[in-house]
Amino acid sequence: MIERAERLAEALPEREIDALLVTNLVNVRYLTGYTGSNGIALVGREPGQRRFVTDFRYVTQAQEQVQGYEREVGETDLLDSVLPALPEGDVRLGFDDADVSVRAFDRLRTLLPERVELVPSSGLVEGLRLVKDADEVARIRAAAELADAALLTTLAGGLVSRTERDVAIALESELRRLGAERPSFDTIVAHGPHGALPHASPRDVEIAAGSLVTIDWGGVLDGYASDCTRTYAAGREPSERGREIYALVLQAQLAGLDAVRPGQTGKAADAAARALIDAAGHREHFGHGLGHGVGLEVHEAPRLSKASTSTLAAGQIVTVEPGVYLPGELGVRIEDLVVVTDDGYELLNGIPKDLTVV
Ligand code: ZN
Ligand code: ZN
Repeated sequence: MIERAERLAEALPEREIDALLVTNLVNVRYLTGYTGSNGIALVGREPGQRRFVTDFRYVTQAQEQVQGYEREVGETDLLDSVLPALPEGDVRLGFDDADVSVRAFDRLRTLLPERVELVPSSGLVEGLRLVKDADEVARIRAAAELADAALLTTLAGGLVSRTERDVAIALESELRRLGAERPSFDTIVAHGPHGALPHASPRDVEIAAGSLVTIDWGGVLDGYASDCTRTYAAGREPSERGREIYALVLQAQLAGLDAVRPGQTGKAADAAARALIDAAGHREHFGHGLGHGVGLEVHEAPRLSKASTSTLAAGQIVTVEPGVYLPGELGVRIEDLVVVTDDGYELLNGIPKDLTVV
């Protein structure tokens, strides 16, 4: 973990800040290894300027998890204990303006001496998190493999006449049984017209034979998330319309995957998949981006979308998930999780994508 703090320290001069106050818990975890629910870190340019503060509930945990930082126990407010580690003289202190509330900002301003200038610095740690190291790739791969296994076990019970909610509960408990800390997000199981809602919640409605069922699920393992979507035919072959849309989404998904390589922009990767859906007359039925980064958070940078400003690089982990949603009729989404390699990508999940009757 300490090499991550060093990389952060190296990034401070170009942002013209002397130290960064890290309050976002995901960023604190990334930098220190601490997994508790209350903790902050301060990282300055010099190796001696690494301080971690938590409260008394987490002292033992912090001793085990946090190395290379001066550890302090905060009393009422963790900020009181982190500030003595600030460098001398005039200090430009970066803080995560995307994470600090107006109230916390006011509190910070009152605690800080005049010589300290607060500088909005969000995105600095997120920038480091973009490219995964080998250990992170291994953890996400393990999370994806676990999620695959959980789905296959769940599908062994078939889909027809189970409710969407029953399938979601079975899948989530299987994720946990196999070792996941929790699902990456609320599992989506949506069939028939309900599948046309990209973020549908599972209902107490039985899955009908012949319908298409979209399942979007993932598990968190060792802090890292996975994310995958498959659309199945329940009980028997779906309608011709269903087969046609499925084939289109699969073709778009493969085109999106083909576009994933270092140097490619997130915008171009999105366009590669979107062009096929547009050409088939479904421009308005694919209303979300092609994909997103996955790591400690299930949705993080980079983005693959029309508005993306990201450029892909080896070691990034992204999803490729086009969908076509026909309101009142059906929906199909197919999502894979991939790591960008030196010359393309490698799949982290392995469930086949041909239209399958379950
Ligand atoms: Zn997903
Ligand atoms: Zn996703």
